[in-house]
Amino acid sequence: MSYANVNGTLPGKKSSEYLEKWKKYEADKTGYQAQVAIDHASGAMMYDVDGNAFIDWTSGVLVTNVGHCHKKLVAAVKHASENMLNVYEYCNPYRAQAAEDLVGIAPSYLDRCFFLSTGSEATDSAVRIMKRATGKYEIVSFYGSFHGRTLSTASLGGLSKNKKHFGPLLPGQLRIPFPYCYRCPFHSCPEKCGMMCIEFADEVVRANSSGEIAGFIGEPYLGTAGFVIPPKGYWTQMQKWIRDMGILFTLDEVQSSYGRTGTMWAAEREGLTPDIITVGKGIGSGVSTSALLMRSEIVDKAMGKGELGSTYGGNPVSCAAVSAVINIFKEENVLANAQKIAKILAARLPKLLEMSAYVGDVRGVGMVWGIELVEDKKTKEPAPQRVKQLIDLCANHGLLIGSVGMFGNVVRVGPPLVITEDQINESLDIMETCIKLL
Ligand code: PMP
Repeated sequence: MSYANVNGTLPGKKSSEYLEKWKKYEADKTGYQAQVAIDHASGAMMYDVDGNAFIDWTSGVLVTNVGHCHKKLVAAVKHASENMLNVYEYCNPYRAQAAEDLVGIAPSYLDRCFFLSTGSEATDSAVRIMKRATGKYEIVSFYGSFHGRTLSTASLGGLSKNKKHFGPLLPGQLRIPFPYCYRCPFHSCPEKCGMMCIEFADEVVRANSSGEIAGFIGEPYLGTAGFVIPPKGYWTQMQKWIRDMGILFTLDEVQSSYGRTGTMWAAEREGLTPDIITVGKGIGSGVSTSALLMRSEIVDKAMGKGELGSTYGGNPVSCAAVSAVINIFKEENVLANAQKIAKILAARLPKLLEMSAYVGDVRGVGMVWGIELVEDKKTKEPAPQRVKQLIDLCANHGLLIGSVGMFGNVVRVGPPLVITEDQINESLDIMETCIKLL
């Protein structure tokens, strides 16, 4: 039995109608997607309005970690929404329970949380807290990092496409290189470089800092810039650098948490102990919410009463979702399934390198993998058009994928963590077929 099932060429008739209506009225400024209109989704499957069935490698955008429309999550949201939709900052059972549940699964020294609505809000708030707690203003972050698309979070990030023609952004940003080893700016490799990029961070500080560094913010792996995974041992050394500098440490786990890398928190992989963790996406598994996890002594010192909050942050429906997702992780052993599927991905995805002249790099950890397409393996010229072509080819064969990357040339592999062995093997078969058709 196969899960994927596509009849004819996409888009189907009904999808075409919705696509036309959508593009007529809403600005067509989202990224490139397969040309289908989704009707419903369940587990690791998505279905379009023409009745075609697709295996999902996107999880929204690394959001629906416990699977699309998990029954317990939907029931919790329904229960809350029948009672109250928004009571702003009034205490209520859903918010109190979600706070207990979230702090309960956090690294034990992070004893406080705060609920917000989006990942950008969480990273922006983390930076405000680091500045207040230290009385300093400079922030160190990575080349290629992504912390949101608002003006302040784009300032923190290291992707120029999010800054272009927006004029001067936040002052006091110090950017250090991330170990994007496939495109190492030092033309070296992890086997012989001795983590030169961390040494270079000292140069950046020496040349640029006014001595007012409040903290560092970084993603455990570069997400939007192409699912770039640092070499083993990098983070241990990087954390030492941060601690030696005597600055605060925020780990942006908006996309890497909730089992994405195979452990609940990416921080666990190298025993990292950030002062603040930002959480988003998987925390609500499809229901919009985000959060900060913090040491209480830091947030208590930094922020006064009324200084954290937003209209939808901590609303009862989102909080019901937060608790439901945590319960699903505990009751259904989602992490064990993720670890089992991760082994299949690790065994099969690197083989794509030999199957196509256009696959330049395959890298990943757990349930997050990037397939970087290039025009030429020697010159490594990025091939974003081929990613678009692959998105369409895969969709026509019943697999939905997305793209990321500094150059838009990386295929995003991030299925729901509940995908089954049969589904992942079938989807890998589809990818292998389509990559050979490029
Ligand atoms: N941080 C990281 C690491 C992200 O991946 C994202 C979203 N891609 C954000 C922050 C911003 O999240 P949001 O889109 O919910 O504002």
